[in-house]
Amino acid sequence: MQKNNRASLSPLLRRYKFFFDLMKRTTDAYLFCADMQTNTVMVSPNLVQDFDLPGEVLYDFDQYWGPMIHPEERGPYMASMRAIMKSRNVYEHFLEYRVKNRKGEYVWIRCRGRVGLDREGVPIVFVGMMMRMAQRNQADEVTGLLNKYQFEHGVKMALAGYRATEEGGAILLFGLDNFKIVNETYNRLVGDQVLRHVAHTVGSILPSMLTLYKLDGDVFALIYPGASEEDVQDIFTGIQRSLAQPQILDGHTYFCTVSGGTVFYPANGKDYLVLHKHAEAAMDIAKRDGKNRNCIFSKEQYNRWVRSISMRDNLRESVENGCTGFSLFFQPQVSAEDQCLIGAEALLRWKSPKGRMVAPMEFIPILEETRLIIPVGRWIVEEALRVCKKWRRIVPNFKVSVNLSYEQVKDASFKDFVNDCIDRYDVSPEALVLELTESKIIADWNFVNREFNHFRKKGISIAMDDFGTGYSSLATLKNLSCDIVKIDREFVKNILENDFDRRLVKYTVELCHSIGIRTCIEGVEEEEVYKLLRQECNADTIQGYLFGRPESVENFEEKFLDGKAGE
Ligand code: C2E
Ligand code: CA
Ligand code: CA
Repeated sequence: MQKNNRASLSPLLRRYKFFFDLMKRTTDAYLFCADMQTNTVMVSPNLVQDFDLPGEVLYDFDQYWGPMIHPEERGPYMASMRAIMKSRNVYEHFLEYRVKNRKGEYVWIRCRGRVGLDREGVPIVFVGMMMRMAQRNQADEVTGLLNKYQFEHGVKMALAGYRATEEGGAILLFGLDNFKIVNETYNRLVGDQVLRHVAHTVGSILPSMLTLYKLDGDVFALIYPGASEEDVQDIFTGIQRSLAQPQILDGHTYFCTVSGGTVFYPANGKDYLVLHKHAEAAMDIAKRDGKNRNCIFSKEQYNRWVRSISMRDNLRESVENGCTGFSLFFQPQVSAEDQCLIGAEALLRWKSPKGRMVAPMEFIPILEETRLIIPVGRWIVEEALRVCKKWRRIVPNFKVSVNLSYEQVKDASFKDFVNDCIDRYDVSPEALVLELTESKIIADWNFVNREFNHFRKKGISIAMDDFGTGYSSLATLKNLSCDIVKIDREFVKNILENDFDRRLVKYTVELCHSIGIRTCIEGVEEEEVYKLLRQECNADTIQGYLFGRPESVENFEEKFLDGKAGE
């Protein structure tokens, strides 16, 4: 059934017609073949039928097609077409968009086409096909990409392919970093816009044999039969590069980075559910390792991840039960001059529900990441001040040092909480020292200083922890206004053999004193080290195993307060 043709076939299209007529009987897809010189297009009859086009041969196809495209995708469609027409190096068109069919409904179409060049490199022909993706259970509603059900089907097909040919392959999941922040800062519509941008950008750089899927939330997926680790890494780097251009959202610049997780079949799983679970775990590991990277699944890493997930649940349970399982140990701090006890650092301990004492290095990062450090941090301040109040009856100027994570500093109500605690326990603010433990992620020093100055004005001291290690250095000293610098054990442990370390400690103490900052030397384990420090420098306080290890409240009282404090 031929409709009234608006145009006649150009010589070029006439040449292809025989082949085109055969092709259109082999597929349900819509086919097209365009002569780029004459702007004439030959389309398959199903397209004419479903979209009520005036004929199978059309002059200036876009005058019909353009207005039928959903306004949201019209821009990207036109841009892609213009690029194809003009550019000498964009040869591929890949776009998913909605078009109004003859019933007036929008249906999703995935269009893929390629440009053919003549011998001089002039684009002469544009051919391709469009697939309907309108079925609800196939297309992701936001991006129009194939959805998680299709992904599941795709993985199952890949596994079937493996069983038939023994060719394995890779599955790559990737999610947008900090996507939650986009949704929170702007709104879901802006979030959807970002997802569509990613779908479009990544879709257009992928080799044509790869299909991009969109799973739940902000997660995308690829199935890559026959891929090696290197192939996946190349694809991932390509994705990162394609997204490197900042986007402007609502007047703000947004940098989109992605974290990926890769599994190989059959090595990391022989069925869909296991592979998907492992790929998700690998992606989560990539995010925890600092984002903007791809993590290749390994069994050992996975086991560690499972442990940390269960630890997270256990920690949450402890916090919900009023911080049961947590306790504070106290390590004495002595005056460097006469070794008199002047205070203690409160160090957090946690016993898991199974009764295992877990190292702070293991559970504190999880508390920070889950922000459980905020309620636990309050419990710490409360507990430390309660104990301090008691011990000040024996050592009147006793000071307790409490470690502070950046998450806690950012918590707007922390200040009031500390003030309130000081009032409730009726201790002098001078009894409290807040130690800033890690400074690597502090972006806004002005903010931190403002918060800290509030404490300092009240008489609470601020200490900079772990001076000399990775992120706590002269640069931090320049940025942070503090009262005390704690020189890390790394600096001190080789002081007997290492002349450089010795000088470094000496001059750091001098530098600090010259600007009115007190110093505490950490990790002093041997008498010789203490003696040398006394000779070389004039630090204010010392904390180390030589003068006492972290102890429970009872043991601390027993060992360092002659058992006097017991109520
Ligand atoms: P930190 O703040 O540098 O605490 C000092 C750590 O050095 C403690 O380890 C302490 O036991 C250890 N130490 C003290 N003297 C010596 C010594 O002479 N030799 C050796 N080898 N080690 C010594 P701990 O208790 O395992 O704590 C580790 C880290 O966990 C702390 O390092 C701190 O960063 C973090 N942490 C502990 N409690 C808390 C807390 O309540 N809140 C926060 N945010 N972090 C905490
Ligand atoms: Ca500390
Ligand atoms: Ca320290």
